[in-house]
Amino acid sequence: MTDSPHVIIVGAGFAGLAAVGRLRKAGFMVTVIDKNLYSTFQPLLYQVATGGLNPGDVSYAVGGFTSRRRTRYVRGELASIDDAARRVKLSGGRELGYDYLILATGVAANYFGLPGAAENTFGLYSRADAIVLRDHLMNGFERLSESSDPRSEFVITVVGGGATGVELAGTAAELRRAVIQSTFPDVDPDRVHVRLIEMAPALVMPFHPKLREYTRRQLVHRGVDIRLNTEIREVRPDCVVLADGQDLPTDLTVWAAGVAGPHGLADWGLPLGKGGRLLVGPDLLVEGHDRIFAIGDIALNQKDPDPQLAQPAIQHGKHVAAQITRLTRGEPTQAFTYHDRGMMATIGRRSAIVQLPQGIRFTGTLAWFAWLGLHLVYLLGGRNRVATLVNLSWRYMAWGHGGGVIVGDEPDQPLPGEAAAIARRAADAGAGSDAGAGAGAGADAAKAIDDSV
Ligand SMILES: Cc1cc2nc3c(=O)[nH]c(=O)nc-3n(C[C@H](O)[C@H](O)[C@H](O)COP(=O)(O)OP(=O)(O)OC[C@H]3O[C@@H](n4cnc5c(N)ncnc54)[C@H](O)[C@@H]3O)c2cc1C
Repeated sequence: MTDSPHVIIVGAGFAGLAAVGRLRKAGFMVTVIDKNLYSTFQPLLYQVATGGLNPGDVSYAVGGFTSRRRTRYVRGELASIDDAARRVKLSGGRELGYDYLILATGVAANYFGLPGAAENTFGLYSRADAIVLRDHLMNGFERLSESSDPRSEFVITVVGGGATGVELAGTAAELRRAVIQSTFPDVDPDRVHVRLIEMAPALVMPFHPKLREYTRRQLVHRGVDIRLNTEIREVRPDCVVLADGQDLPTDLTVWAAGVAGPHGLADWGLPLGKGGRLLVGPDLLVEGHDRIFAIGDIALNQKDPDPQLAQPAIQHGKHVAAQITRLTRGEPTQAFTYHDRGMMATIGRRSAIVQLPQGIRFTGTLAWFAWLGLHLVYLLGGRNRVATLVNLSWRYMAWGHGGGVIVGDEPDQPLPGEAAAIARRAADAGAGSDAGAGAGAGADAAKAIDDSV
């Protein structure tokens, strides 16, 4: 066994974990490195952020996954690669040698250099992001319930009209209509506003125009203020500045507008393409390298790019396992071909869009159940599946009766725009009395229940 080639996989997401089983079956020694103890199921993060699921429902212990496959797991963050010596170095200094290296680190938010975007927005890429966002979202509702000013508002701005932005805006708007009244009975739902900003002329652009239009109508029906063809110039703590100079006041801004390679990627010394992703050839080998593969969201084949979705990532993982087996047998690598299994996105309760190959499309309740079923199948771990099924069923069955939100802790930091927004409204009103009420809201929210997951 010890003479078997050693494959290191960096990243325990869809792509990395999909490679493990096949490599083990082929007899390789495999080490999985991830900076987190858990693998995150990103497609349901928006449910954590809106209090529908516990964070533990969408995360699965990497060590549990690897030990069942007799694979080594090392917790650590990739810092640098010495391909000549075939060694990787983790931040903290630990080094590991490899025969083949698979990079499957996924992506992070891309702010496109927009002033204020990184500092003044919330992201939704990790479990931690979702918890922070949820706590600030709930805190915003809580602040309204404690404010004595009947004019005070809570404005949520979602930047990016892709699937993530649509899911988040749709669910936040539904919370306002169906859940806030029962969970925060003293909050007037009309004081909560959800806005969705998209630069393109339509939402969910990769979908068929009819599905895009369905999505738009469903969001409008839920009261989302949709701004298409709208470019942002700057994000400030209390407002979003548009390219035409208009200021849109906001209390909480979520960035769901684009992705790029993760932090530290430039230090790996590998070729980078558009959006800071690793350039790969058709066989998923990193350009200029014969033992380093890149798969999943981080990989970019410029001639034939794959969508940044779970299915391509899983298929990449299986493909590179087969290619490494071929290389050790002295056979040439083969090009990857993506088998399109379709796309889906959900807008809210009983509302989703499904687009399958061969032009099959459907929407509404059927699409929503298809979305739910598929996500349960893809989730790692029996306990996660059961917990997710119970929590989502509870959320949507108890809809409007107070069972719809899992609340968390009071955030350590106030909303980026909170202090500035309070001051602005107070100044508008010519009175400063509310600033104190708003700022004090944080300290008094001890009744928030810790979900302690
Ligand atoms: C909010 C959201 C919703 C989504 N919804 C859908 C959907 O409905 N359907 C769909 O098909 N796709 C969806 N996607 C996209 C899908 O989640 C990704 O395409 C998929 O996760 C990519 O898999 P991956 O393995 O490449 O990366 P990931 O799943 O992101 O895994 C990367 C792993 O690498 C680790 N890592 C990162 N950097 C390092 C480092 N330097 N060192 C060590 N470890 C590192 C991370 O901790 C992580 O575990 C969504 C994405 C997001 C963010």
